[in-house]
Amino acid sequence: MRSPADDRHAPLPCRRVGRSGLSVSALSLGLWQNFGDGTPAADQRGLVLHALDAGVVHFDLANNYGPPPGSAETGFGRILRTDLARHRHELSISTKAGYRQWPGPRGEGGSRGYLLASLDQSLRRLGVDEVDIFYSHRFDPTTPLEETIGALATAVSSGRALYAGISSYSATRTQEALTVAASMGLPLTVHQPSYSLLNRWIEEPDASGRSLLDVAGESGTGLVTFSPLAQGLLTDRYRDGVPESSRAARGTSFQREYLSEANLASVDRLRTVAQQRGQTLAQMALAWCLRDDRVSAVLVGARTTQQLDENLAALDAPGFTADELASIDEAAVDGDLNLWASRSSA
Ligand code: NAP
Repeated sequence: MRSPADDRHAPLPCRRVGRSGLSVSALSLGLWQNFGDGTPAADQRGLVLHALDAGVVHFDLANNYGPPPGSAETGFGRILRTDLARHRHELSISTKAGYRQWPGPRGEGGSRGYLLASLDQSLRRLGVDEVDIFYSHRFDPTTPLEETIGALATAVSSGRALYAGISSYSATRTQEALTVAASMGLPLTVHQPSYSLLNRWIEEPDASGRSLLDVAGESGTGLVTFSPLAQGLLTDRYRDGVPESSRAARGTSFQREYLSEANLASVDRLRTVAQQRGQTLAQMALAWCLRDDRVSAVLVGARTTQQLDENLAALDAPGFTADELASIDEAAVDGDLNLWASRSSA
């Protein structure tokens, strides 16, 4: 067992999540792909403790993270029970349910039975009495929104979660969810959408005429955004081809089409702007997501401590000038990377 460093909260800025009392590290760690059974427990532990020492206080999970589904929560639970047993109260841990987790009609979506059964399983795997945030992982057009949001309200009122959230819901569906939640007296504290230089959908108005950024900003819902590095495309990972150890080579969520000539050209142009700012492309991509204070945190998915250190240094950078933002806008062409678009609305 190793205790976290004494000065661990000093170096990293934290932000409020919307209008809530919850504060999270502006750069937080997601455990989607690099904490499954295929990653040695020692590597998982090394990355989590390294993040904690650097001041990361928010760790994002979901029922289905691994692979196999559930294994990321089991692995993180092991670290919580051993090294972090005396530090649980310092951390914000989130989990989610929405995608397929077990066979049968009750194994995915937004039903009350699925969400609450899944949350109970997550708590057992993590070995905790409650999570800080419980999310509906996706909009489910086959379940009444009242039922999904009602399940989030039960999660909070029963003490299994401190805050409720939704993920990937469109601006329209978010407004509807906010209305339903308000009628139940439930604050929807946080929304978790994808967002990066090459995937700017949250800035665009949808059929309601409003963007998700505007809806969240006006309602006091914090945005904790994911895949800020476009799963690694917005780094130097693919500068000279596709490394064997990369997510693109593993071919699960990173589709080869993402490495199109047009996307690689955008990445090269963005890298030039980053170099002019004295940053790596990854650092500029992260700092850029955080330029808007409606974004409470970015969830980064580092696989190694070296990647994490490079990413953490993004927070040391100066703000953007108007000229830099204009150059970025010119280079940052939509890369057709929003895998989650079909799960945002009906
Ligand atoms: P990401 O930060 O965009 O991508 C992470 C990948 O980028 C890493 O696995 C690594 O790829 C590469 N990388 C990271 N830092 C690097 C660096 N400095 N240099 C070179 N390569 C670097 O984020 P993500 O993993 O896609 O998502 C982050 C988190 O968001 C997830 O863990 C999860 O918590 C959350 N998320 C939520 C949803 C949702 O539906 N709510 C969906 C997706 C993700 P290699 O493995 O190739 O080294």
